[in-house]
Amino acid sequence: MSGALLATRAFLVLVGPYTGDFVATFAVSWPSLPTPLIGRSHCGRCGAPIALASQVPLLSWLLKRGRRPCCGGRIPIAYPIGEAAGLASGVAAAAATPPLVQAWIFAVGLTLTYIALVDLRRFSIPAWGLVALGLEAGLAVAATPTTEGRLARLATGAALALALETLRRFARRGARAGLGGGDVMLAGLLGILVSWRLAAPTVGLAALAPLGVQLVNRKMGPVALGFWLSIVAGLFLLAVESRLLIE
Ligand SMILES: [Zn+2]
Repeated sequence: MSGALLATRAFLVLVGPYTGDFVATFAVSWPSLPTPLIGRSHCGRCGAPIALASQVPLLSWLLKRGRRPCCGGRIPIAYPIGEAAGLASGVAAAAATPPLVQAWIFAVGLTLTYIALVDLRRFSIPAWGLVALGLEAGLAVAATPTTEGRLARLATGAALALALETLRRFARRGARAGLGGGDVMLAGLLGILVSWRLAAPTVGLAALAPLGVQLVNRKMGPVALGFWLSIVAGLFLLAVESRLLIE
């Protein structure tokens, strides 16, 4: 391994959690922009400045057991999730080659993190997240070598979008309305990204995981399906595209 490659890999792994924290800041303040734009330097609850030492991703959160050092308020769960997702994106990107693929993996990981966190907090799929994911899905189609492979991606996307649209119509009749047009578009784009081999496990896990969480917590409520779809698809994608898991 050359020195330059090693340096790039170390950089991606280190910068991942910080970028994830940055993405979480945007997701938490959605639909407004965070103030200030460059990260989380003041407590969102009491306004006290946050010391640099307590801005270490994940570690700070773990050491303080999810509490703010200034006022004892609870830190939104979006931050540690964003930081962990950023770390996973950095590790997966670092494991891949060449640089263009590394950049693509990192971008997809962060886009899915943003969409997942906004949906978790607001039950809404952010439009700009879909735009970014659409571009990334387009690149995936363009980079697929065979016509057959490209068609498989598009067909998987269409099938997942159709499945979600059907589910959405059923859900609207019931008491639990929570699926929107954004979820349908998200499912379609995720289908293009994961393609047919991973489509069924993605949807299956994304549907079962929230049920499992609700059973463990013994608390039923609306499910942010977009959050689970993004997280599960993201983990599969990161594993496959970085060759950590051979398809
Ligand atoms: Zn505070």
